[in-house]
Amino acid sequence: MDMTARHETAPLAARLRAPLARLQSIRKNFGPLVALDGVDLAVHAGEVVSLLGANGAGKTTAIGLLLGLLQPGSGSAALFGQAPGSIQARRRTGVMLQDGGVHGDLKVRELLRLTRSYYPRPRGLGDCVALAGLQGLLERRYDKLSGGQQRRVQFALAICGRPQLLFLDEPTTGLDIQARGQLWDAVRALVAEGCGVLLTTHYLEEAEALSDRVVVLDRGRVAAAGSVSDLRARVAQRRVRCVSSLDPATVSGWPQVLSAARDAGHLEIVVREAEPAVRRLLEADPALRELEVTRAGLADAFIHLTRAQDAA
Ligand code: ATP
Repeated sequence: MDMTARHETAPLAARLRAPLARLQSIRKNFGPLVALDGVDLAVHAGEVVSLLGANGAGKTTAIGLLLGLLQPGSGSAALFGQAPGSIQARRRTGVMLQDGGVHGDLKVRELLRLTRSYYPRPRGLGDCVALAGLQGLLERRYDKLSGGQQRRVQFALAICGRPQLLFLDEPTTGLDIQARGQLWDAVRALVAEGCGVLLTTHYLEEAEALSDRVVVLDRGRVAAAGSVSDLRARVAQRRVRCVSSLDPATVSGWPQVLSAARDAGHLEIVVREAEPAVRRLLEADPALRELEVTRAGLADAFIHLTRAQDAA
């Protein structure tokens, strides 16, 4: 069947709902090692899906399957409704992997010119420079750039073809805070244009800042999936911070306290329920000040969810 023709004639709503990238019931082994076991994943237009997991959880393997670099043992992988790896799919996809694979002896301007030439409707050079923060770097050789500058060039190369789907594998590793913020803004701008993004990151604040949905992988299985607030809500924890002379070792022994530690002069405790813990803190240290209670963040949820798998 001519998939392109079917795609063009599908009703608009269905086309908008159809995922750009999809893994269904994927199992992938490397010899005896099971890297992915029954994984489902979908990325739609105009959303950022973050794939989270500890080292070796299977994130890069999932991306490799979607790009057609790896073949599944069982289950199916699809990009734009077709088998990954076709030239049509590649022209609609931007990729920033962990190892750049960039010709180091070329200047940034040459790299951009070359990569833009592969795509039918590339983004303007000025746009690429602005989005990736490459001002002043166009005439520099890639292999003479700093690690963070090279990462920004890799981002520019990933987006210069005006992709409908973007794979970002730990894109901000090695970037300073300003460059990281700039890359987040660029991702938001692309998503606002309708681009779908699959992001892997070890920075949970990055997933929290950018994601519409999060998929947590744990040793090759999906441990949890949902929006950032869904995942946070699954962890009924509160973080209590205050300035107090109380000893964390003593506080961690209280029944409602999950952990207690000292952090930059503050006592920081994680509790199941804030109220009884705060009451007990105030009783134990009437001089306590700067009390702050916050909800569990994505980082707390991630640790909780992967620990729950360990216990199971
Ligand atoms: P990281 O956060 O460290 O990048 P990851 O979640 O991306 O980790 P993968 O690279 O997908 O993890 O690896 C999943 C598992 O599969 C690991 O145990 C890894 O050692 C193994 N693995 C990956 N690629 C291969 C390969 N080509 N041959 C053998 N084992 C592999």
